[in-house]
Amino acid sequence: MLSIGIVGLPNVGKSTLFNAITNSGVLAANYPFATIDPNVGVVQVNDDRLENLAKIYKSAKIIPTAIEFIDIAGLVKGASKGEGLGNQFLSHIRQVDAIAHVIRCFEDTNITHVEGRVDPIRDLEIIEMELRLADLESIEKRLPRLEKMLKVKNAEAMVEASALTKVKTMIETDGRPSDLDFSDEEKKIVKNLNLLSLKQNLYIANLADTDLANPTANNHFNALVEKGKSLGIDVIPISAQVEYEISTIEDKEEQTIFLESYGLKESGLDSVIKKGYEILGLKTYFTCGPQETRAWTFVAGTKAPQAAGIIHTDFEKGFIKAETLSYDDLMACGSPVAAKEKGKVRLEGKDYVVQDGDIMHFRFNV
Ligand code: GDP
Repeated sequence: MLSIGIVGLPNVGKSTLFNAITNSGVLAANYPFATIDPNVGVVQVNDDRLENLAKIYKSAKIIPTAIEFIDIAGLVKGASKGEGLGNQFLSHIRQVDAIAHVIRCFEDTNITHVEGRVDPIRDLEIIEMELRLADLESIEKRLPRLEKMLKVKNAEAMVEASALTKVKTMIETDGRPSDLDFSDEEKKIVKNLNLLSLKQNLYIANLADTDLANPTANNHFNALVEKGKSLGIDVIPISAQVEYEISTIEDKEEQTIFLESYGLKESGLDSVIKKGYEILGLKTYFTCGPQETRAWTFVAGTKAPQAAGIIHTDFEKGFIKAETLSYDDLMACGSPVAAKEKGKVRLEGKDYVVQDGDIMHFRFNV
């Protein structure tokens, strides 16, 4: 399951947003793998296509995919040196796929800013510095161990040591490790090292509700967008308080009316999820039948057998063919039968690269 870690200075609105996440959380019964942990919130990924599919296939239930948010509260200046919550929780972030920075852009004299005044760029730099320092510390621990392996000419250790030294030098010279070029070999190893400064990032600008309809009226937001642009990082305007209020409304229609009153089409949380999928190159395929219509998340470029393996390893091992119909073709034809008659149901083999919106039916040997 995709997981996104939420970081930010104290009093920027992280808990408010996280409470909105847990309030709109999924039914644990449908997601037995969801961890029961107060710092983890699992929300479903809304996808309008699911309802349409469930109608066509007369499915008894819909199971959307889910995404996990991890509240990594307490990252303050000096956290990597053990002043804040320290290394224990930094190890928590290492497991996430992407990091969402919650950045305070709202002014409110009643709510203290730990650094004295609202300044999103400075706040971001504090957090990013902490993430880099945490990496530096783990690299410095790891390198001496690698040196021992280098003595016996361990090839993998050589690649790892070279990659880590590059990152270390970059941090020490105040550069951004994400600007580094790694060889293909290094890339593979670097991925497994889970360095915080190499993770994909999202900036969540926490605005006053009155700024939501027109975020560019807020200069803190504009500064953040400029910074994001220079780094290729998207900024998502939200109001944590509004998100919290949305999460307390159960009725979908009422939610829509509430959102419209702020000039919004979707909740900020939905925008964060969409962006998360985008930056990580994630796509969705569907399995549909009378029992259920279900969404499955895969990484762009995945071939049919591996996509089948997401459902069950046996599907991958015994993969024969995949009956495939694209969502758009199905909608254009109106029914699976009509789609079949028009030749839109394809029988794809092991080299087929699964596309977003594919409706898959796997044939496999048991
Ligand atoms: P955290 O320390 O980052 O988890 O911050 P909290 O979520 O606890 O928020 C700190 C304070 O700011 C709380 O009193 C929130 O109600 C308040 N707060 C959060 N978001 C907003 C906002 O968009 N506008 C205003 N005015 N207050 C907010």
